[in-house]
This record gives sequence, structure tokens and C-alpha cells, in this order.
Amino acid sequence: MTMAFSDDTRQELARVIPSARCCRVAELSAFYEMSGFLLGRHNQFLDFNTSSPFVARKILIMLRGLYPDLPTQVLLVRSRSRRSQVCTVRVLGRRSAGQVYQDFKDQSVIDELGVPRKKCCRRAYLRGAFLCGGSITNPERTYHLEISTEQGWLADKILATLGSLDLEAGITERKGSLVVYMKDGGQIASLLSLMGAHSALLHFENVRVMKDMRNQVNRLVNCETANVDKTVKAAVAQLEDIELIDAVIGLEELPPKLREVARLRREHPYASLQELGEMMKPKLSKSGVNYRLRQIRAKARQLDKLVPKS
Ligand SMILES: [Zn+2]
Repeated sequence: MTMAFSDDTRQELARVIPSARCCRVAELSAFYEMSGFLLGRHNQFLDFNTSSPFVARKILIMLRGLYPDLPTQVLLVRSRSRRSQVCTVRVLGRRSAGQVYQDFKDQSVIDELGVPRKKCCRRAYLRGAFLCGGSITNPERTYHLEISTEQGWLADKILATLGSLDLEAGITERKGSLVVYMKDGGQIASLLSLMGAHSALLHFENVRVMKDMRNQVNRLVNCETANVDKTVKAAVAQLEDIELIDAVIGLEELPPKLREVARLRREHPYASLQELGEMMKPKLSKSGVNYRLRQIRAKARQLDKLVPKS
């Protein structure tokens, strides 16, 4: 389930092709920084590696849009176990590879970390980083989104780029990788929206609303239960007082107003004070009933002291 939501989100993002040139360069540079290499003795290959054919297709579409005559090649390498595969989109030739590489370097940035200057490009950059090293947990389970990389400077850049969009994230280390993670449901929803994962956002927000409602209902039920417990405990104490008075002096010794309350309480052990008040003739307010029950309690305390303890 969890993996399915993450995969669905990645597939959706793999279909998002930014229209502006600046954003295409920004997103491709994220792919390159996350899992790309300049290779060959003369740097004649620029490779983008991904395990997803959807992402490979996207890289190819964006490259062709930016550089119409760019010579490219797609390589597919299956691992020995055949469980996983690596797609490589390769830019061929020293001049072509050099041009693409230079465009990545020439991007307009705001700081030494390399955060893209334009907001549209930051969104595209994060989408690329997420598509390469990201995953998201199904919100039914918990709120968690992460992007992992083996390179410290890259984790810092992702963190700073998130920060520039008012998104808070943390960094932790796991099995030699740095993991940039987010835990806040609202913030994760914002990032999904910024990256353009609209279907994933819809599912995420639906689950969030359901969970909120469930929590509210639970809180209400717990609150009611607590009140019922309090009422029952109070009633038990009142009944003990009444039994004590009855045993020591007899209820008929009580003033008529107190006697009436004592009798009603005995007959209706689970009634609330308000309900007891409504049964009286004439009717009595909740605080009036409470006052009389406190007088009964005082009387019981008095008698309790007189009764020899065995
Ligand atoms: Zn842009």
C-alpha cells in the first residue's frame, strides 16, 4: 500500500513536463546532480541514471525540447537478480555533453548552495530531486516524505531550496545516506502542490480530512466517557452516604427536603443531577440538587465519626 502511493506519486510527477526553458534546465540539473555523471576520457558522455522508465522518458523529452538535434542514447541494464534495472539516458559527444553540462552550471542561483533564483525553477528542481531519490508514505499510515542522497552538499541544497519555499525539513543519516525528510502533513501537502502532483495531493488531503474527523470524534467520545465516569463515581459516593445515614439513624430522621433527594437517588442511581431535579416536586435546579446532596454528605461525615470503627 505504502509503496503504491509513493509509486503513483512518482509516476504522476514523471508526466509533468515544465514548459519554461529555465524550469527544464533546473529539473534536468536535479536529475544530473542526484544520479548523473560526466564520463569518458574526454568527457564525451553525460549520463542520467534512473530505475524508472517513466523518468527516463521524461528526461529524454525535456532534453529533446531544449536541444532539438542532441545525439542521445538510452541504455537498459538489468541487475543480475533481474529484480531491478537501471535506465541510462546518455548524451553523446564532447560538444553536446559539454553544452548541457555548461547550461546546468550557468543557471541563475541565489547563494553558494546553488538554490535556483526563480521560484518556478525551485519547484522544478525539487520535483527532479524527488523523482530521483524521493519517497512518500501513504498518509493512512503516517505523514512522511523524504529525499535521500549520498552527498552532503546536495542534501544541504535540497534543504535550502525547501526552505526558500517556506517548507521545513530535517536531515538525518541512514545507512550511509543523508535523508532530507518532512513530517508535517500540511507542509507535505504544500510540497505536493508545488511539485504539481495534483492527484497525489487530492488523495493525501482526503485522508487528512478523514483522519482529522476521526480524531475529533474520538476526542468527543473520550470526553463523554470521562464525564460519565465522573457522574457514576459521584453517584456511588452519594449512595454510600445515604446508606450510612439510613443504617445509623434512618432516612426518616432527615429533613423532608433532604429525604426526598435521598429517596430519588436510591431509586435512580444513574440519573444526572439535572434529571433528579426534574423528578422533584416542585422541580429543582441542578445546583439546588447538588446543594442538598452536599448537606447529605455533611450529615454522613458527622455520623461516620460517631460510628465506632471495628
Ligand atoms: Zn523556471
